Amino acid sequence: MIEIIDIHCHLTFEQYDEDREQVIEDAKKVLKCVVTSGVEPEDAKYALELAEMHEGFVFVTPGLHPIHVASRTDQEIGDYEEFISENKRRIVGIGEIGLDYHWVRDPLKIKRMKEVLVEFLGLAKELDLPVVLHLRGTGSEAIEDGLKIVSDEDIRKAVFHCFTGKPQLAEQICEEGYYISLPASIVRSKSMRKVARRVPISHLLTETDAPYLSPTEEERNVPQHVKVVYEEIARQRKIEVREAEAEIERNFERLFGVVLRG
Ligand SMILES: [Zn+2]
Repeated sequence: MIEIIDIHCHLTFEQYDEDREQVIEDAKKVLKCVVTSGVEPEDAKYALELAEMHEGFVFVTPGLHPIHVASRTDQEIGDYEEFISENKRRIVGIGEIGLDYHWVRDPLKIKRMKEVLVEFLGLAKELDLPVVLHLRGTGSEAIEDGLKIVSDEDIRKAVFHCFTGKPQLAEQICEEGYYISLPASIVRSKSMRKVARRVPISHLLTETDAPYLSPTEEERNVPQHVKVVYEEIARQRKIEVREAEAEIERNFERLFGVVLRG
């Protein structure tokens, strides 16, 4: 029985231009479903096309990655929000959106990044959709700022994707009712393994962020590598992999409002 899920990857990216269909067919043999995340308008449109071609297997969360915020005008962002609203039935969440202090250092750009994040959180609330958060940089500062913003904005459904913060912060996030998603690079991260052990399993999710964050560095990542996250969660919690699969599937359905087939 195939029961694993990749809640965050980028099947639209150029790293798959040569063999995208094969990558998706291979993923279908191992996974129950994948969520491909749109990082800007054109990318999100393409993601929707992929979802249409692979209905019930590829799901989409359109977002505006924080590193792409500065290059977009208010008009473009407004049009994009309208596009997202019009396609509400074809998507399962909004993201990735968030804060990136690793690539963006200019205070004015950071201010803009925060405003745009709040804007998209408003859209998610209006459409009653969960958000997929990218929070990166300067220790745990981006995660802490992001957590404050989502709770101030009264967001109920959110997942902190590719969580790199400390276990204590992960626990705090789960106490607020949000979810933590761990990537395949967990095999190289002691802190992620600790998170896998410490947070309630009812708030854990699994992802690859493919083509990035491969378990074997450097190599192009693919959704089926999410398997190692399940194995690591099971190992850390001393449970059967099947139990981890069942829990995470329930979490996925609860957060994204999707009921998976069989
Ligand atoms: Zn991503």
